[in-house]
Amino acid sequence: MSTEIFEYAPAPESRAIVNIKSDYGLYINGKWVAPHSKKRFASINPSNEEVLSKVSLADSVDIDKAVKAARAAYNKVWAKMPPKERAKYLFRIARLLQERAREFAVLEALDNGKPIRETRDVDVPLAAAHFFYHAGWADKLEYAGFGANPKPHGVVAQIIPWNFPLLMLAWKVAPALATGNTVVLKPAETTPLTALLFAEVCEQAELPAGVVNIITGDGSTGASLVNHKDIDKIAFTGSTEVGKLIAKAISDRGIPATLELGGKGANIVFDDAPIDEAVEGIVNGIFFNQGHVCCAGSRLLLQESIVDEFVEKLQSRMAKIRVGDPLDKNTDLGAINSSAQLAKIKEMSESGSKEGAQIWSAPCSLPTKGYWFAPTIFTGVTQAHRIAREEIFGPVLSVLTFRTPQEAMEKANNTPFGLSAGVWTEKGSKILWAANELKAGVIWANTFNKFDAASPFGGYKESGWGREGGRHGLAAYIKGAR
Ligand code: ADP
Repeated sequence: MSTEIFEYAPAPESRAIVNIKSDYGLYINGKWVAPHSKKRFASINPSNEEVLSKVSLADSVDIDKAVKAARAAYNKVWAKMPPKERAKYLFRIARLLQERAREFAVLEALDNGKPIRETRDVDVPLAAAHFFYHAGWADKLEYAGFGANPKPHGVVAQIIPWNFPLLMLAWKVAPALATGNTVVLKPAETTPLTALLFAEVCEQAELPAGVVNIITGDGSTGASLVNHKDIDKIAFTGSTEVGKLIAKAISDRGIPATLELGGKGANIVFDDAPIDEAVEGIVNGIFFNQGHVCCAGSRLLLQESIVDEFVEKLQSRMAKIRVGDPLDKNTDLGAINSSAQLAKIKEMSESGSKEGAQIWSAPCSLPTKGYWFAPTIFTGVTQAHRIAREEIFGPVLSVLTFRTPQEAMEKANNTPFGLSAGVWTEKGSKILWAANELKAGVIWANTFNKFDAASPFGGYKESGWGREGGRHGLAAYIKGAR
């Protein structure tokens, strides 16, 4: 049998479909307005450090304007509108996302650094699916078990991260609108462009002015939004550190919050698992989206009897991961989102080596410009190592071992987080037992990273509060609902 590596010809997606403006204002009350501070900051392409555009830095004056616009839209239009009519706007947005799918996919790959294959096949279709799903709920809320007359909160402040910019927007905006809330949303500072394109979709859908307001900025903008006195609910996805700051900031204000925070997911492989399938699942679990995934399977727990065979197969599979140009349709692993994130990944990896774990990286040539990190695993990791306890949020997997199923559960649960876990075994009874033992919001069996708008997502412990998606996710946007 030949072991020759099959070479791919480059298959670049054209970027001609996107029309990125040289600068953007803030989208407030259905209009594009200049920021009060007159300050703009660059959004760059992390794969080559090219400046894509300059976006506005919103301050508290802009936020006040946006919250007032959302309040007026809530009182005058959106809360009063028959739910059936509200649904039509959500359907329209969903269809527009589908119609403009390629444009969104290319723009997301450019601004975030993730491969076009993922934006095209995951981020954008799932974002559209969230609007379709919630459009279906809009006129059925009174049959959903929230009481006879479910009421929205009012004005919702939404702050999202950079790892799935459009998808996290959809997770937040779709349920908020379906339930009759209006929105002020702040995308992350490194990935604002698809949210700004989404504002164009709102215009195209003729969504009433002020129902969705998009304000760009950094952490200080996010903090001003959280501290605005006239918001009725907060939905945040991001780091546990900022989640704690938000929880503190609102502790005496009595407004509800959903917080989707960090994770350190365990992917557990028992000795009876189908090894080749499990290797695929582990690779998907940690290298999907460059490992910039809060529910990534970043800790691999292997039963001791299969460690050598498994690690060898894993390394040979990792050597085939294609790292490079995010716009190439053959690319599996794109760029790290920012220089700051790259520095964090490097620092964590250095700590792994210093603390005594063994590092192995897939042989690959990384581009010279931009932010890159090769797919990497650490073996010989113990529970005490930082790389077993802290989130790395990059393409780095920590491999630990166990002897008995009980030990696997103890190690998997020995973390301040509790967002996701994976179980690999051919025994159904072991899957059900493990799912019962594991303290994680989402547990996948013989698969990983599967998402659906109907399926609630969220965490235990420091992974956050509340759920997004499904009926549980709707509850977060309805007054007094659980
Ligand atoms: P990450 O580690 O993923 O960058 P962050 O929690 O820092 O996560 O960022 C997630 C989002 O929270 C971003 O939109 C960011 O601008 C915003 N943010 C950062 N600091 C604060 C803060 N103190 N209050 C509110 N939002 C913030």
